[in-house]
Amino acid sequence: MTSPLAALARVAHTLARTEDLEATISAVAEEGRQVFGAQRAGVFLLDEAGGVVPFAAPGLSAGYVTALQARWREMAPAAAILRGEAYFVRDARDDRASPMHDQVEAEGFAALAALPLSYGGRVIGWISFYHDAPRDYGAEERVLASAFADQAALAIGRGRLLATVSRVKQEWQAAFDGLGSGLALVDRQGRIERGNRFMAELAGVDVTALRGLKLPALFQGWPADGAELLTLAQASTERVSCYLDGPGGRHLAVMATPRPEGGFVVGITDVTDEVNLRSRLVQSEKLAALGTLVSGAAHELNNPLAGISAMAQALLLEMPPADTASALQTIRLEAMRAARIVGDLLTFARPRALERRDTNLNQIVRETFSATPALSDHGAVWTLGLDPTLPAVSGDPELVRQVVTNLLVNAAHAMAEGARREAVVRTAWNAEWVTFEVLDSGPGAPPDQLARVFEPFFTTKGPGQGTGLGLSISHGIIRAHGGDITGENREGGGARFSFRLPRDPTRIPRISHA
Ligand code: ADP
Repeated sequence: MTSPLAALARVAHTLARTEDLEATISAVAEEGRQVFGAQRAGVFLLDEAGGVVPFAAPGLSAGYVTALQARWREMAPAAAILRGEAYFVRDARDDRASPMHDQVEAEGFAALAALPLSYGGRVIGWISFYHDAPRDYGAEERVLASAFADQAALAIGRGRLLATVSRVKQEWQAAFDGLGSGLALVDRQGRIERGNRFMAELAGVDVTALRGLKLPALFQGWPADGAELLTLAQASTERVSCYLDGPGGRHLAVMATPRPEGGFVVGITDVTDEVNLRSRLVQSEKLAALGTLVSGAAHELNNPLAGISAMAQALLLEMPPADTASALQTIRLEAMRAARIVGDLLTFARPRALERRDTNLNQIVRETFSATPALSDHGAVWTLGLDPTLPAVSGDPELVRQVVTNLLVNAAHAMAEGARREAVVRTAWNAEWVTFEVLDSGPGAPPDQLARVFEPFFTTKGPGQGTGLGLSISHGIIRAHGGDITGENREGGGARFSFRLPRDPTRIPRISHA
């Protein structure tokens, strides 16, 4: 054996130079073998799951290493190693009870020194030296062996850490560059510290040129309040977003999230396809609505016109005088029906301007019940919950009356078929709104129908029973007042239709969509 101190110094020197984990471990095994005059050596590391990974095992057979991997926990040295203590055996062949006795015999070694490798307060594995002849480690040698193992553990631990860091860095870099959105780390002044490939592509510059560039300068379309975006993000300490027009007519969505250490993470997504798709969709929805409108109008007008023309034909064929009066009467009724439909259509297409005055919603509800006795047909029971303190709102009473009538008539229709015919009508108010709601005990509507009830000409009623214009006209009236109207199914059955009107229409809250 060489001088222990010289050996340690040499080991330290070698290990300090090796960067790569594999090379470090091989050097540890080889140097240790030489220092302690062993014929074989082995470095075994514990993985996350507590399994053993053999790293360098110069001189050991593959069969021995595999057996050791499977059984090491059952063996006497394992407990000592896990406690962080070294374990020395003069002649391992004497231990007949060892689960590895046969393998030890086959391998043909006698003495064994197993030294724990501790790093960061944890046992990360061990290093073993095997001697062909029985051998005692003296006190001084044991101290040297432990010092050697500590030195080795430090180098291996550091190597492992470096390997992890460089793997994580590679993964992060791959994710950063592979991302289908632009991503950049930006300093407080909006200068790019690091940007990914997609960001460079969006900006039309080389990825290596991104560093140091200022974001607003990079994107010509960066809005005038673009610097504002970062200022806003800084002030709110939350994610802030905006849209901007990128190069080549692209539409970009930009998001700035403040970093705890200062500066921002800025993400830029190309939403050109979504924007185009949406405008195409809006266009085709408009066309579809127009189609429904035209075919609905044609269909509705067709019935009374057919009646009128049949009656006129009968008159031409000179029916007996008694029938003339009834034919003329039919013609008049059918013409009135056609006129009503045309009237509805006109209201829908060109609603008249609101004539606002103080409107008492409770009074309108009561008057509607008096004016529409049919609401109580088939024994329908209405419970009125009208708030007596309801303030007047600025509205057009005649148009609001039209909406109330429509909602009540619809509820009565819905309940006509069912067994239970109980409905509740309520009014209520708060600082901003006055609300009206009808809760009926009808069948409600399937979700796909419910989504369409405010469409013009959408009706589930038979020919001549409904034009499907009532709710779309109501919708137009309530929106013109600055209010909202909604329809939904009630839990436990029935529908709830309601609207609300702003108490002060000059202060309608507007939600802005970034
Ligand atoms: P119409 O009453 O002429 O059909 P509306 O526009 O008033 O036209 O209503 C459209 C459709 O909405 C109705 O045909 C019906 O299917 C549905 N609907 C309206 N109110 C209710 C309600 N209270 N319960 C269930 N369905 C309703």
